[in-house]
Amino acid sequence: MAASTVRTNLDGKPLNPLTILMIGAGGFIGSHLCEKILQETPHKILALDVYSDKIKHLLEPESLEWAGRIQFHRINIKHDSRLEGLIKMSDLTINLAAICTPADYNTRPLDTIYSNFIDALPVVKYCSENGKRLIHFSTCEVYGKTIGSFLPKDSPLRQDPAYYLLKEDDSPCIFGSIEKQRWSYACAKQLIERLIYAEGAENGLEFTIVRPFNWIGPRMDFIPGIDGPSEGVPRVLACFSNALLRREQLKLVDGGESQRTFVYIKDAIEAVLLMIENPDRANGHIFNVGNPNNEVTVRQLAEMMTAVYANVSGEPALEEPTVDVSSKEFYGEGYDDSDKRIPDMTIINKQLGWNPKTSLWDLLDSTLTYQHKTYAEAIKKVISQPTTS
Ligand code: UDP
Repeated sequence: MAASTVRTNLDGKPLNPLTILMIGAGGFIGSHLCEKILQETPHKILALDVYSDKIKHLLEPESLEWAGRIQFHRINIKHDSRLEGLIKMSDLTINLAAICTPADYNTRPLDTIYSNFIDALPVVKYCSENGKRLIHFSTCEVYGKTIGSFLPKDSPLRQDPAYYLLKEDDSPCIFGSIEKQRWSYACAKQLIERLIYAEGAENGLEFTIVRPFNWIGPRMDFIPGIDGPSEGVPRVLACFSNALLRREQLKLVDGGESQRTFVYIKDAIEAVLLMIENPDRANGHIFNVGNPNNEVTVRQLAEMMTAVYANVSGEPALEEPTVDVSSKEFYGEGYDDSDKRIPDMTIINKQLGWNPKTSLWDLLDSTLTYQHKTYAEAIKKVISQPTTS
């Protein structure tokens, strides 16, 4: 029999298999995290969600080599008495469940606040009361607008990182007014972070907070009319993919001037696994997880996706691949945007030695290859159907 290699953490200590309760395991991030844990570690997963479509390939057939290490529980944490029992059975709880799509912030503001704050409360409470570790997913939105965005457009200070770099232990936060409901989302996330921190300070809760900076990749969101509502508005990757698949123009909201840094989901998941397996290095910390080298404006993203998709599909791009739309037209009343988001990487580098690897071009190439394979035929079918009047 081959000698089994002992899995060790960053400090060379052997790792015991963990039981991990993953709340929101059926979403985009959860599906990639489940895949990674099952394929590369001995840990067990109690996967909790209301949907399981994105992890179906991990649950069926039951002959899969990891079948005994993942158990799916169709539970809504809003109202289910089984939650505390599942937290007690696990060594670690990871909470991914939340609404985090900008189109929802101003159209479903109550659901947004409830899912990001109220529904997370029992998870935090049960972890704290039962002495269980918690990894909670927050957002880079808690930084609000950059200080630089308040400077005159031509100010040279805008080029100074002191005015835009987002640091976990240093940056202040400036939110927009109450009618701009993106900031209600940010505020709900901000308050749950502060509550978790207070549970740590007063009651000894072992916690790690993750602030994702635009994680993208396969299985993100949905393609309207194919695996989500026709009128639904997903995040930018899926909106642009949908337009490319349908040979329609990509819509640039308010000129597409906002800037984002995009990180490949598979890079980001490596960071989460390091947090899971290195509690001594991760507990009590808040981590930015993003790729500061992959910054583009939304317009540049549209141009790059158009070029990558032409390669992937073998079809030439439209002559005018983009069109400008106002945010009011696209999202409705009460929308506001984040201007720029560059994560400072000092803390995650120091604690976990993590760095993102994948360039924007490469991550778009693998993601759009996936989108094309998964959706091109289905879209063709839908387009060829006669529309009912
Ligand atoms: N956006 C756009 N066209 C679209 C979808 C989004 O121009 O079809 C813009 C949106 O206004 C924002 C950026 O793309 O400036 C990123 O939006 P996303 O929904 O991905 O989430 P965010 O990073 O704002 O949380």
